Amino acid sequence: MTVVTRIAPSPTGDPHVGTAYVALFNYAFARRHGGRFVLRIEDTDQARYVASAERRIVEVLRWLGLTPDEGPGIGGDHGPYRQSERLDVYRAHVERLLASGHAYRAFETSEELEAMRLDQQRRGVDPGYDGRGRSVDAAEQRRRAASGEPHVVRLRTPDDGHTTFHDLLRGDVSVPNAEIRDAVLLKSDGFPTYHLANVVDDHLMGITHVVRAEEWVVSTPLHVLLYQAFDWAPPVFAHLPLLRNPDANKTKISKRKLDTSVESYRDQGILPEALLNFLATMGWSMPDGRELFSLRDFVEAFDLERVSLGGPVFDLKRLRHLNARYLREVLPLERVADRVVPFLRAAGHEPDDEDFLLDVVDVLRPRAETLAELAAQADYFFADRIAYDDDARRRLAAGQAYLEDLEREFSRLEFYDDDAIDDLLHDYVQRQAVPLGKVLMPLRVALTGTGQAPAVVDLVAILGRRRTLARIGQALQAIQEGLPDDDPERLRAEAEAAAKTAGAKGRRRPPSAADRG
Ligand code: GLU
Repeated sequence: MTVVTRIAPSPTGDPHVGTAYVALFNYAFARRHGGRFVLRIEDTDQARYVASAERRIVEVLRWLGLTPDEGPGIGGDHGPYRQSERLDVYRAHVERLLASGHAYRAFETSEELEAMRLDQQRRGVDPGYDGRGRSVDAAEQRRRAASGEPHVVRLRTPDDGHTTFHDLLRGDVSVPNAEIRDAVLLKSDGFPTYHLANVVDDHLMGITHVVRAEEWVVSTPLHVLLYQAFDWAPPVFAHLPLLRNPDANKTKISKRKLDTSVESYRDQGILPEALLNFLATMGWSMPDGRELFSLRDFVEAFDLERVSLGGPVFDLKRLRHLNARYLREVLPLERVADRVVPFLRAAGHEPDDEDFLLDVVDVLRPRAETLAELAAQADYFFADRIAYDDDARRRLAAGQAYLEDLEREFSRLEFYDDDAIDDLLHDYVQRQAVPLGKVLMPLRVALTGTGQAPAVVDLVAILGRRRTLARIGQALQAIQEGLPDDDPERLRAEAEAAAKTAGAKGRRRPPSAADRG
């Protein structure tokens, strides 16, 4: 038997991390057994349909490397793969169930159903459709339907006994049939419900293993009854644990508590490799306990029955930490550089000097957890002009004499490598008899605009002669332009503001020029 798995997302919004999780496990199971992995779009809920969602699901799967073997836009022998294009299939199948007596047309209006619900509430009985439509005989149903009376089609579920299915992860799950109501299969607008379309498609698409989220466990007995009504063998079921918020109650992950959008993680610069590795550790661990492993390793080791059900937590800190390890330890430098380029472009830089880019990424990757952070830190490497803020200008001014000397020294330096730069700086501070830090700080600020940056030697070496000298020049110019404090306009404005707020309690007095000394 060829294993065929599927994901069946509804295109209702942002591609969800839960979808990526279920996709990963379905993909791995199919690959492990040399089978196929199908994408089916369950788009029969018109009210919640979002036009861009399908394209974005496909993109996200491609980004993760979980490309389906069959699906919309991909092809396959069992299409179409969008449920909205299969309405005839569902209607034909409903006809079959009507003919065999497993289903019936029900004509209750919404007012009538509401009255039934209120009555049930008043009597304290379990809510749900009470099967009243069953009593209308088949000929009468046909006549009323033919006359255009609005109706739905419902499954006639058994009143006695139990329905049981075997879940690969949970064992036997059994429900009294009395609790399974006559579910709607076809809505009054002619669209199928999730239950009907899902079962019909899983069967027609040859799905052998339905591996999906825990929330569908409660629907499965109804699905099993549908398989029985069609006289089909049901697939193997396995319901994966729900991912949990990292809160005290470990509630099911939700947008309100956590970012659940795969695109958002991608846009923050989480690597697909890291996200996959992270999701693969949700309810699963490598038999040898390895924490870092590739998709290929996962597929090789994957055993569905080893999935554990103890509420895996979507811990963002752990994801970021894992991502950092992929940036630093796992991916080759060139690959990280490739991945960072779109982020740099988005920030308006054109990283066309390959060697420079590699040097920048090399020095920054130990300092960033995501690609976006790496790109943000790389900003000063690629900027044409450094924007010096007040604080930076103050520090530059304090080191003006050193900067003037170093401009001269660096322009004379023949070899621009780490050793030469290091020697130059050490010789210089020795001659000047000043502590190294006093010289390095203004230089670091001149080169980057910030005091938080990698080692100055690395900065000078990576920037090279042209950029280093240009930046020291810019810094000296910024000193010439003067500190904002020297601006008489501003001083006057500050003094006025200070006078105005002098009486106001709890407000901080704006610093005057004198404070700043
Ligand atoms: N359309 C359902 C969903 O959005 C599919 C559930 C299933 O896998 O059966 O999750």
